[in-house]
This record gives sequence, structure tokens and C-alpha cells, in this order.
Amino acid sequence: MIDTLKNVFGFESFRPNQEVIIKNILAKKDVFAVMPTGGGKSLCYQLPAKITKGTVVVISPLISLMKDQVDAARENGIAAAFINSSLLQGEALSVYRDLKDHKLELLYIAPERFAMQGFIETLRKVPVSLFAVDEAHCISEWGHDFRPDYLGLSRITEIFPDSPLAAFTATATPKVEKDIINKLRLRSPFTVRASFNRPNLFYKVRSKRGLDTQLVEFLSKHKDEPGIIYRTTRDSVTALADTLTHKGIKALPYHAGLTREERKTNQEAFNRDEVSVIVATIAFGMGIDKSNVRFVVHADLPKNIEGYYQETGRAGRDGELAECVLFFGRGDIPRIRYFIDQMSDDRERAVAMDKLNKMVMYASHNSCRRSRLLEYFGEDYGDENCGACDICTGTVKRVDATVDAQILMSAVSRTGQRFGIRHVIDIVTGADTKRIRELQHNEVKTYGAGGHKDKRHWQFIVDELLAQDAICQDGDRYPVLKLTEKGRGILFGNEKISALKREEPEKKQGAGKGGGLGPYDEVLFDKLRTVRKKLADVQQVPPYIVFSDRTLHEMCRHYPADISGMAGISGIGDAKLERYGDDFIRVIKTYLDDNPGISIPEKKHSALSCEPVRNKTKGETFNKTYDFFKEGRSIKEIAKARNLAISTIASHFEQLIMAGRDMDIDRLVDPERRDRIGKLFLTLQSWQLNPVIEHFKGTVSYEEAKFVRAYMQRKNV
Ligand code: ADP
Ligand code: MG
Repeated sequence: MIDTLKNVFGFESFRPNQEVIIKNILAKKDVFAVMPTGGGKSLCYQLPAKITKGTVVVISPLISLMKDQVDAARENGIAAAFINSSLLQGEALSVYRDLKDHKLELLYIAPERFAMQGFIETLRKVPVSLFAVDEAHCISEWGHDFRPDYLGLSRITEIFPDSPLAAFTATATPKVEKDIINKLRLRSPFTVRASFNRPNLFYKVRSKRGLDTQLVEFLSKHKDEPGIIYRTTRDSVTALADTLTHKGIKALPYHAGLTREERKTNQEAFNRDEVSVIVATIAFGMGIDKSNVRFVVHADLPKNIEGYYQETGRAGRDGELAECVLFFGRGDIPRIRYFIDQMSDDRERAVAMDKLNKMVMYASHNSCRRSRLLEYFGEDYGDENCGACDICTGTVKRVDATVDAQILMSAVSRTGQRFGIRHVIDIVTGADTKRIRELQHNEVKTYGAGGHKDKRHWQFIVDELLAQDAICQDGDRYPVLKLTEKGRGILFGNEKISALKREEPEKKQGAGKGGGLGPYDEVLFDKLRTVRKKLADVQQVPPYIVFSDRTLHEMCRHYPADISGMAGISGIGDAKLERYGDDFIRVIKTYLDDNPGISIPEKKHSALSCEPVRNKTKGETFNKTYDFFKEGRSIKEIAKARNLAISTIASHFEQLIMAGRDMDIDRLVDPERRDRIGKLFLTLQSWQLNPVIEHFKGTVSYEEAKFVRAYMQRKNV
């Protein structure tokens, strides 16, 4: 297992629960796993695909996701394919053929296939080593993503009694969990409920005032970083995307009102790093597996913590630091309440209201965001300071708030508990408004009693009193403030109340405990990102499928300038090393040459020193190419014989030449051309290929230039 993890996926170690899940799958046990977004669920079924004899069949709800996952698996050298309605008939037939010929290690299908008898008959003839149901909550009517097609999956265990079935989801309340297990008819499954803590996510709440300006300022600090901004309505999505575009920030909208085609185009552009910001309603959801989302902003208040947590969960799947910011204004509450009030079922309405209150508390209470989120999901974070939220990194002071609370609540009480927040604050601060004069509230005893402190302070007191349940908001259209039992105790009794007050400016933020991997060379990252984008475009896949941000960040910490260094970077398995290693090594080398001052930290695990298995594999592929070359075959013939790209063989040649192996350069580039190319390198005083190619106006190939360069470097010219 660990060899496959390293060689195929390029990872050093398993994430929590992956190993035990895979072990159970290999022991043919059913599995039910709840792991947070980014927890690494795919690996739990992709790794068995590589090491079991039969095919792993994955049922996944979204066509767009399927293609990306298959692309990603193929990049890792897994024989993967998908069947869904987007395939042309011929394509589907060829997948079926491969399936029947036992050529597929991994097959993704849409749930509706299980309604097709023909498909089931085909599957019966194939040894299926695992059925993996991804996004398994889609089978439950109680969940929020119910898909009727998923109900067909309840037949799997009956039709294929010998194959284990594993169900994965990131969202399951106990009720949904039971429902999934029943509906899928899992046979006493091995069950995992992972921690929902996402240590690399930084949580932050800011008061919403002048949102557009706040967002522009925020984005200016996150230039070129991919991120999602959630808004509630289609109109606000469109308006914000326009505003940002006018300010020169590339942003595209996404909401259910756009045509399917528009949505697809915009999502792709985001996926492929062509546009960094997507402004979206929550319709932009499950279809995003992009691992390098660096921030998720909620520009409006979400309805509940489940939704909020799920949406923020789309940030930082790669495990690198990502930021989740909620812009909170109480002005958003009435709109949500309005929708809740429309609900006809009393119980449902009460539940929705309760959830909204918890969301508001999360946003308004000055205590550790991470603890509050995890607490909501029944998890005890334990640590007092998480180190990665605005509260824990800011200076928080506990202050006695009894006197201020009494001033405010007295104003509430003396005006008959019939007014909203703004008006009450106006009374306390002694504002001279028309309404106050009309209602003669300037004669209330506490009028102006808090005039020595500004409105922001009083808003803070209101938030604290609400969060601590000393006052509540009541009323349909116009929520008014009322005292609770606890509030009366403070106003009329002797009870005290304290509040956690946050002091700006916040300290520089870092990763949470155990999250993020520290700083990296951002200048180099920019260069590597450009290379990644080019390679991704050639392969027609999203950039994060070539390498995740995490992998690039690691390169920008360790500066791997040769194959063995590259092999030691997390996320680089054999297949990717072969395909992309050189392109990145080249850039890093040039960068190091241009910046001689950079000191390279030692990496604890050098891939070569402690991974003999891996080393051998590497040697083998080069040796094969070398042997073929020695037999007199051309680069094209070798590529064909080895079923590898010409560019791959070319890079083998390059490595072999540089390693000093006996490669007859005359066979690769004729002497006269070699001479001209070599001279140009010397004239240009640079090892860059492009200027050379440009100079010869296409009469010299990229490969030829590469070989000559390798030859010259070997001889230390
Ligand atoms: P999920 O489906 O649970 O949301 P994914 O399967 O998409 O998560 O994995 C999220 C990211 O984590 C991917 O970029 C994946 O490559 C990476 N990942 C998975 N397992 C590991 C591991 N053991 N070590 C490092 N990265 C991993
Ligand atoms: Mg997933």
C-alpha cells in the first residue's frame, strides 16, 4: 500500500483514516466513511484500483467531476475511464470493450447506469473488486442533494454479493448516515467519521460596511489567487461580477439563471485558472473539485452553518493555507427570516429559525471560530487557541460589560420592547432623529446615556447580548429587541455579564495547528504556475490536475533541481515525474542560476536515499529507453514501442546524455546543425530553448536544441 501511495500518487504518508479504510476494502468489507471535503476520499478507492485484480467501479453524481477525476487518475498512470451520457456512442463502446477485456483499473459511472440491464449484464462478466459510491448522501431524501437516480444503487449488494461496497460523503447528520447505510444495504460496514477540522483553513468574520470597497481591498491582497465569492441572489452576483470587472479584477458570475452553456464556460475558465475569481450563488457547488481554491468569501450571511461549512470547505483541498471570510451585517437577517417565515410546516420553520440563530451567533460571538464550527458538528476541538482564526490570532480581551448592557437593555425596556437595533442604539447614543422626536424617545431616561461611546461599540454590545442570549430578536417583518430571562437578571438583578472584545489590527495570520506548510518562494511559484498552465492546456485538463498548488509550493520550498529531488516532492508519482519532471526542473534550475543567493533547505526525506524501490523504477524506465536506443531504434520507434509520448522519450535521452551515458549524439543531431546550435547557446549566454528555436525560425526542433544543450552541459562547456 505504501509503495503504491508513493509511486503512483507521490505522497509520503496517508491522511487520517485512509489507510484503515483501504485495509478494510482489501479485506472485502463494506465501508461507510464521512470525511470532510479535501479529506482525501478519492484516494481510498483509487489506491485499491491500482492494487486489486479487478476493476473498481465508482458511482459519482456529476458528469463534469467525473471527467476531471478520470483525467487526474490517468495522469497518475491509472487505467481509468468513465461512462456517462456525455460520451459519443463510439467512445462508450470502446470503454465497454476495455472493461470486458479487463483493461480498466478504475471505471467511473453515473448512477442511472444501474437502471440499464445491459450495463449490469456487462458488469457481471467483469471482476469488480469494489463499488465505491461517492457523494453517498445523494441517496437520502433527508440530505440536501437528493438524487432519485441514486436509489437504483440499493440493488448493488444484491446483484453483486461478492464485491465490497464503500460509501463516501462529506456531509451526513446521524439521520442521513442511517439512511445511507439502509438504502445502500451496507453489510455491517466498517464506519469512519473523521474529524471535521480543516487545520489549513483560516476563518475570519468582518463587519460588512461598504462591501464593494471591502472586497476590492481584500482581492488586492489576493492577486491572481483563485477564489470564490458567494452571494445570495442572482442579481447581486451579476452586479458584483460587473463591479469587479470594471475595477480590473477578472471575475465571472455563476448562478442558476445563466444558460447551461454559460455556466459551463465560466466554471471551466475558473477551473483552468483563466479567471481567478468566481462570483456565485450556492448553485456553484458540488461540481468543484479544484484543489487550489485559496479563499472562499461569503459576502452575505448564509442560512445555516451546514451550508457555510460546506462552502468554506471548497477552499484549500490541497492542504495549503486558505482563507474563509464572512462579511457579516445584521441587515442580512431579515431577508433570510422572510424566507423562513414562508415555510408552511411549523416544525421545519422552527428548525430553520434555530439554524439561522446559530449562524448569527457564530458570526457575532467573539470566540474561537474553529471551536464553534466543530462544536456545531458535535466535535470538541479541545484546544483553547486554534491559531488560525481572527479571534485566536487577534488580541481578545475579556471586559466587564455589565454597565453598558444595563444602559442598552434599559432603553429596550423603557420603550416597551417594540424597537429594532438601530433605533435602540440611536436612543442610547442620543441621536437627534425625526423618529426619536416623534416618539419622544429623547425623554427616555437612558437617552444619550451612552453618548460617550460610538455606535460601533453599541453594535458590539448588542451583538454580545444577542449571542449570549440576554436579549433576542422577535417579530416577523421588523425584528424588535426583547429581554430574555437572563437579560432581566442583568438589568434588574445583580447578575454580571462580560464580553470578549477584539482589538484591531490583527496579527499576521498563519496556518492553524498542524495546517499549512509554511512560507514558499512566491516569485518561483509564479513561474511554475505559468509552466503548469501551459502543460495543462496542452493536455486539456485543469492546471491543478497536472500538479496541485501544494506540490508547486513544495517545489518552491525545496527547489528540486534534478530528477531525484523532484521525485521527493509530495504529489509526484512515477507517471507525473516522467511526464512533467523535466519541465519544472528546467525552470527551477534557471531560477537558481539567476538567483545565486538562494539557500536551499535540506529535505528530511530525500526520495533517493530512502526509497530504493522507487529509485529502481526510475532506473528501469531510463534503461529501457537506453537499451532500445542502443539497438539502433529511432526516437519515434521507441516512443511507439514503449507506448510513451515522443516528448517523454526525448526527455529520457536528455537525462541519459547529461548523466554521461554513452549516447551517440550524431544519431540525434547531425554535426553541422549541432555546431550551429551550440554556437548560438554560447553567443546568447543562456540555456533557454525558446530564443534558440526562434532564431532558427522553426528549422531546428525543440528536441534537437534540448539534446545539444544536454550534450554541452555534460561536457561542462
Ligand atoms: P475529497 O474527495 O475528500 O474532498 P479529494 O479526494 O479530492 O478529497 O482529495 C483532496 C486533495 O488531497 C487532492 O488534491 C488529493 O490529491 C490530496 N490528497 C489525498 N490524499 C493525500 C495524501 N495521503 N497526502 C497528500 N495529499 C493527499
Ligand atoms: Mg471527492
